[in-house]
Amino acid sequence: MAEETPVQPRSAMPVDPIARVARSRHEFGEHGGVNLSIETSSTFTVLEAGKMPEMFGGRAGPKGGCFLYGRHFNPTVMVLSRHLAALEATPSAYCTASGMAAISGSLLQACDTGDHIVAGQALYGGTWALLHDYLPRKADITTAFVDLSDLAAVARAFTPRTRVLYCETVSNPTLRVADLPALAKIAHERGAQLIVDNTFAPVAITPALHGADVVIHSLTKFINGASDIVAGCVCADGAFIDQLYDLHVGSLMLLGPAMDPRAAYEVATRMPNLGLRITEHARRALACAERLEALGAQVIYPGLAAHPDHALYARLANPGYGAGGLLSVDLGTPERAYRFMEHLQNVEDFGYMAVSLGFSDTLMSASASSTSSELDEAALRAAGISPGLVRLSVGYTGTLEDRLSQLERGYRAAGV
Ligand code: PLP
Repeated sequence: MAEETPVQPRSAMPVDPIARVARSRHEFGEHGGVNLSIETSSTFTVLEAGKMPEMFGGRAGPKGGCFLYGRHFNPTVMVLSRHLAALEATPSAYCTASGMAAISGSLLQACDTGDHIVAGQALYGGTWALLHDYLPRKADITTAFVDLSDLAAVARAFTPRTRVLYCETVSNPTLRVADLPALAKIAHERGAQLIVDNTFAPVAITPALHGADVVIHSLTKFINGASDIVAGCVCADGAFIDQLYDLHVGSLMLLGPAMDPRAAYEVATRMPNLGLRITEHARRALACAERLEALGAQVIYPGLAAHPDHALYARLANPGYGAGGLLSVDLGTPERAYRFMEHLQNVEDFGYMAVSLGFSDTLMSASASSTSSELDEAALRAAGISPGLVRLSVGYTGTLEDRLSQLERGYRAAGV
């Protein structure tokens, strides 16, 4: 049983996401420590034997302090989940072993065999493969991929079996912004749920306040922030979270991607500085984008006035947290992209050639040949992912002045 309403009712809820996280229930350690304790047990005792059938029958649960088994609900994982529900302004949330577990679990929960999904054409490669290859083959769940900026095309893609409209708030790696209120309207008018992956825009955008029904994160990225833990979460209403953990048809309960409570503790200790990190990632990403733009580079960053979704981003964003820590730059050819990244890593110590994002240092990858390589040629073209596109997750180490000089030298070394 998911714990409902960890945040205050919407009327009294702070509009600032970091204020909501700070107000979500703080847990003290077992002995009054300022940090929470880790509940490592995978199984839990009862005082009366009759409690067990009550729990298995769903008549007793974590809401009343009754825990059953670690693959079901765990008290430490629930603390982190409450912070994430507060962050995303959803009544409930629960964490998973990875972002992909959160995505696959949510989609399998929302869809039955023969159902249909409408999804954005620019998506993380793993998600694209799940929708394009895995779900049709394993579950006869099919997906129509559409350009989300063409709202008429989105509406046309719906069939009577469409259960989900799926998108990333800011798409990976093309950094297009989803018009969440418009997409929510299209989905809800047709009886579908809007499921949003908000991995690229934590704190900055709160999709549930723009109509999203389910909000997913790969906690592996900005929210954890140290590139040392793989984790995910689903933020939604209590009914959806309960379904995920149903003993008979719960995707997360039965497929079993449980978050380890030790990982939950680690991520929870990093929640208090999430707002500071996001603000600094975004401040530096904007400065890098402006420097590249001044050099004449094909730079994509929603904080630049030239970005096609600049105004939309400003409309959706929570004030004060910037336009995200990611920027992409199209260097035209893979050779230039590789020269750019190698110079920045091996000559300048600007950052690392590595996938993933949200780390303290800058991470760089050529998306078409790495985290988007699951997309076939036509899908890469449709999504606008060129072979020379480099995605940078801008870190906050070193001085900004130094980083900008390094970036400029890297761009010149690419020989554009
Ligand atoms: N969503 C997005 C936007 C991602 O970029 C990724 C991974 O890169 C995922 C989901 C998957 O998350 P995880 O690696 O935690 O399973």
